[in-house]
Amino acid sequence: MKVMKFGGTSVGTVESINSVRNIVAGEQGELVVVVSALGGITNLLIKTANDAVAGGYEEGLSEIRKRHESVMSGVLPGGADDVKTKIGGLLNELAAEYEQIKEAGKVAVEALDRVVSFGERMSSVIMAAVVGAKHVDSLELIKTHANWDKNVPDMPLTNKLIEENIDTKKNRVVLCGGFISTDADSGRITNLGRGGSDYTAAIIAAALSAEQLEIWTDVDGFMTADPRVISKAYVIDRLSFVEAMELCNFGAKVVYPPTIFPVYHKNIPILIKNTFNPSAPGTFISRGKDDGANSIKGISSIDDAALVTMLGMGMVGVTGVSKRLYGALADNGISVFFISQAASENTISLGVKNAEADKAVEIISKEFAHELAVGEINEVKCEKDLATVAVVGDRMKRIPGISGKLFGTLGSNGINVIAIAQGASETNISFVIKKENLRKTLNVIHESFFLSEFLELNVFVCGIGTVGGDLLRQIRNQQETLKEEKRLKIKIVGINNSRKVLFDRDGIDLSNYAERLEKEGVANTPETLLNGVLTMNIFNSVFVDCTANASIAELYKELLSHNVSVVAANKIAASSEYDRYQELKSIAREKGVKFLFETNVGAGLPIINTINALINSGDKINKIQAVLSGTLNYIFNTISADIPLSKAIAMAKDAGFAEPDPRIDLSGKDVVRKLVILAREAGYRVEQDDVKKNLFIPQKFFEGSLDEFWNTISELDEEFEKQRQRLEKEDKKNRFVATLENGVCSVGLQEVDVRHPFYDLEGSNNIIMITTERYKEFPMIIKGYGAGASVTAAGVFSDIISIANIR
Ligand code: ADP
Ligand code: ASP
Ligand code: MG
Repeated sequence: MKVMKFGGTSVGTVESINSVRNIVAGEQGELVVVVSALGGITNLLIKTANDAVAGGYEEGLSEIRKRHESVMSGVLPGGADDVKTKIGGLLNELAAEYEQIKEAGKVAVEALDRVVSFGERMSSVIMAAVVGAKHVDSLELIKTHANWDKNVPDMPLTNKLIEENIDTKKNRVVLCGGFISTDADSGRITNLGRGGSDYTAAIIAAALSAEQLEIWTDVDGFMTADPRVISKAYVIDRLSFVEAMELCNFGAKVVYPPTIFPVYHKNIPILIKNTFNPSAPGTFISRGKDDGANSIKGISSIDDAALVTMLGMGMVGVTGVSKRLYGALADNGISVFFISQAASENTISLGVKNAEADKAVEIISKEFAHELAVGEINEVKCEKDLATVAVVGDRMKRIPGISGKLFGTLGSNGINVIAIAQGASETNISFVIKKENLRKTLNVIHESFFLSEFLELNVFVCGIGTVGGDLLRQIRNQQETLKEEKRLKIKIVGINNSRKVLFDRDGIDLSNYAERLEKEGVANTPETLLNGVLTMNIFNSVFVDCTANASIAELYKELLSHNVSVVAANKIAASSEYDRYQELKSIAREKGVKFLFETNVGAGLPIINTINALINSGDKINKIQAVLSGTLNYIFNTISADIPLSKAIAMAKDAGFAEPDPRIDLSGKDVVRKLVILAREAGYRVEQDDVKKNLFIPQKFFEGSLDEFWNTISELDEEFEKQRQRLEKEDKKNRFVATLENGVCSVGLQEVDVRHPFYDLEGSNNIIMITTERYKEFPMIIKGYGAGASVTAAGVFSDIISIANIR
């Protein structure tokens, strides 16, 4: 014999009821079926009761009537008049209840209990006819006693009534409504609490010693987390009773918490199944141990929690404080789901529901009025709008370091933990956080403990111009491969251009991002941008700066401080004042996030990473000589008898090598910035002003507007042509070289001859020659494209991916 319970989600519509019919028809053995009210009806019954007080229950009642009538005409075609008559009678009774509530002008608890009972009373009559079962009225089966504002089953009486009234030998399939009950003494209608149909089914299964209890719902089983919050949650094959109990207690709605105990007690396994996908194996809950791969099984949470804390030195070593505390709360019907007490005993924190928090403070203050008056207890305080998260798994107790990993991951994502409790059974670690951090917390934990799934990076791309646009194209091309081969999911959660900004925590489709930004974007300012990224409060966040904008560079500090990693193609921050550069690096270190800017020097060439690797392995950088301006090198390689300096500059700009304002390249400013960054990464404290500059374009060209620059720059063409002819004769070339030697930085034009490694440096290429303690006689040389959107974007992309590797 088994018991099958179908929830409101399974009996909501004609289609789902037809699935239930097929599932029940497929069963050969003896069966008790327990059903909920049609999906959504319980809520509607309650809402209509409240509406009745205001005088208007007709609309709600007519909706309730319509739902039942349309389901009946869909699932009971023709005949079945007796069912329709019965439902008609019940609806009339319900109307009378509403009329009484309207007259009374309030909803008494007893009246509401009667009203909600109609949901299961009606659904069970319909469903018994649909599956061809004998209908048994649960009001005659489940008997309760009042306990504060709850009704708890009278087990001996209920068991006896179940045994007497359900005989599956006589009627192979028996069906009854869940949730509803009557008071053992007065006979008034009561219920087992919201979601209580699961409990009804468990009580019946236990009373009849069923072989199995099946809970049929709308998901494939018990999942690693609430699938409405964690899209990557997946089905857990097996759970122990204790694990299931812990997960339910902390909010996993799939099973009503009291359900587990009756069947656990009789060792009756529970199978969670999906009415909409009956072939899925579901989740099997039993006494057995499971040695699956994961150290934790699931995560659940309660999001309307408050923490009541009692503080005071006077409690230390005094026995009986806890007894009085819990006693006072229990005597007033307040349930405590979380307790944390410091070993020093001078604080005790209790997790209660938000709605009960003020009452709890009042009760505790009253109970300890004397201690408060004499100062043995300093205060009873309360913090609201919190969430409690439970991480559950039997195997946790055998694996050390789980809580270290757990809290480490939370820390590096900037989530502050307010209180912690771990049961001695070690099946559960629970902790309290701010409610606003709940979604992020669940994501972070899910990701770090359920490794079979993807690692996700949530990326904001700031600036979708040449480099940013190319980056998005490369990400789009690589997204699938990274997901499949590296288990890395790169999600673009925001983009902007100079005018508009768009956020979407579910990810922006990269096939039409520009159109979406135009259509849905809001006005872009550094403030909206920063606020948007911070309020998304998303885990594993990366901010990618593909602009050359100083006001964007200003945002890094706030971003890093909020545990958002920063990848910058923008050189401004890393080359600004040394103290600021250091501050950003140390915030990143402290917060456990990354501040990366590999493309600041040599675009996609691995220069900064190489220097870091040398230094980390104990080498020392003695000298760096480098051609670091793709633009300048391109210009010197392009100048010819036919192409004067001014034209070469225009060509460098058109080719996309130059900075948006090419004077930044020509003035050597760009090279100075790069050299400063290199020197700093090589371990020297250097400012831009410390760099000795030997420039080749007179200062006056940099003083006016950009237009004036373009209009006058040809004045230099003749002089450069003369110089070019001389160099050609001498077989030399002009190179703009940056040098770091003994901690001193300089930049300037150098004439190199054919034997110099910089002589053959084509196009816009960069070259860097690093002399170290190890690479002394023959310096290390890195050479290649040093400018251009696609190599720069590739360098940025590789910085982004390297963030995934560190987590
Ligand atoms: P029913 O009407 O069948 O009783 P419920 O709505 O009470 O259904 O419970 C099923 C729902 O529980 C699922 O649709 C899912 O959204 C939610 N849920 C919350 N946490 C979990 C979890 N850990 N595993 C599966 N479902 C969960
Ligand atoms: N119908 C009740 C509710 O919505 C009981 C249940 O579905 O389990 O809470
Ligand atoms: Mg339910």
